[in-house]
Amino acid sequence: MARVYNFSAGPSVLPEAVLKQAADEMLDYKGSGMSVMEMSHRSKVYDNIIKEAEKDLRDLLAIPDNYKVLFLQGGASQQFAAIPMNLMKNGVADYIITGQWAKKAYEEAKKYGTANAIASSADKTFSYIPDCSDLPISEDADYVYICHNNTIYGTAFKELPNTKGKILVADMSSDILSQPVNVSDYGMIYFGVQKNVGPAGVVVVIIREDLIRDDVMPFTPTMLKYKTQADNDSLYNTPPCYGIYICGLVFKWVKEMGGLEAMKIHNEKKAAILYDFLDSSKMFKGTVVPKDRSLMNVPFVTGNDELDAKFVKEATEAGFVNLKGHRSVGGMRASIYNAMPIEGVQKLVEFMKAFEEANS
Ligand SMILES: *Cc1c(COP(=O)(O)O)cnc(C)c1O
Repeated sequence: MARVYNFSAGPSVLPEAVLKQAADEMLDYKGSGMSVMEMSHRSKVYDNIIKEAEKDLRDLLAIPDNYKVLFLQGGASQQFAAIPMNLMKNGVADYIITGQWAKKAYEEAKKYGTANAIASSADKTFSYIPDCSDLPISEDADYVYICHNNTIYGTAFKELPNTKGKILVADMSSDILSQPVNVSDYGMIYFGVQKNVGPAGVVVVIIREDLIRDDVMPFTPTMLKYKTQADNDSLYNTPPCYGIYICGLVFKWVKEMGGLEAMKIHNEKKAAILYDFLDSSKMFKGTVVPKDRSLMNVPFVTGNDELDAKFVKEATEAGFVNLKGHRSVGGMRASIYNAMPIEGVQKLVEFMKAFEEANS
């Protein structure tokens, strides 16, 4: 068995220990005589799986009691519509556009009310986070929306926007569990799990209870109404059972690794190895303003498309896979999520050094 170093932006690398445990439990989950894939979502044994997953996530993020945790389907993109349908009371929301995912959320929200783009970094290909200390927040805004870590462009908010008292909603698909989060700074946090947590097919919503309302937009599908999901503990219909189970194993793995403070140290160490090299290299350059650099997604270029392609090809052959940048940015991107071991980044940098020497 040869496992590669997988730098995919998502779906992405999962902890090997988790995959092994899932393999061990594949045919007979804890003496149930069946796979988690085969059991009723209403069974006692599955109820324990989903309850424990929620409990472990609550422990990790220290989620206050007045927040609900929902395990849903439809991916992060489905939330782009669900958020305005559920949270727009006045029909107004402010969006900070720091990349493609924030822009998509904003475009979707426009279908349901007045969505204002109050800041953007589109002028420099989203290579920085705009100053959000004194934005023109709309007086009647129901919420302010951010994408906390911009998977494609490799930027992250280091400081939250000053929302002037409005509720903050954050897409944390690509950086949840990478570091501690103060949940009470937000009205709602959500994440598609396939970046840093689990297999595709699950999106987790963490939402303050007072924002879960019955008087949502009248056309809101039953399934997209947070109240439906909250009232039924995410079991209104069949949830993505197996995906939730894997997420639960990953939550336990993160706990064993020491929790989010330890993850942060681990991730900072890994990212520093790569960024320090990019800052010293004559061939490779990071594309992001240093102060806004993501811990999770590291885009870089050589400045020469042919050389980029050669690098990606040779890296792949050497076992460093999925390094090609997003089609909208070009170049390369190394996603170094929680499950990427430090050796993966060290060896990638050694490979980059050797490539630079051989090609300059
Ligand atoms: C990947 C990603 C999405 C889209 O996720 P889907 O589950 O494919 O809809 C949204 N936001 C961010 C930040 C992402 O990284």
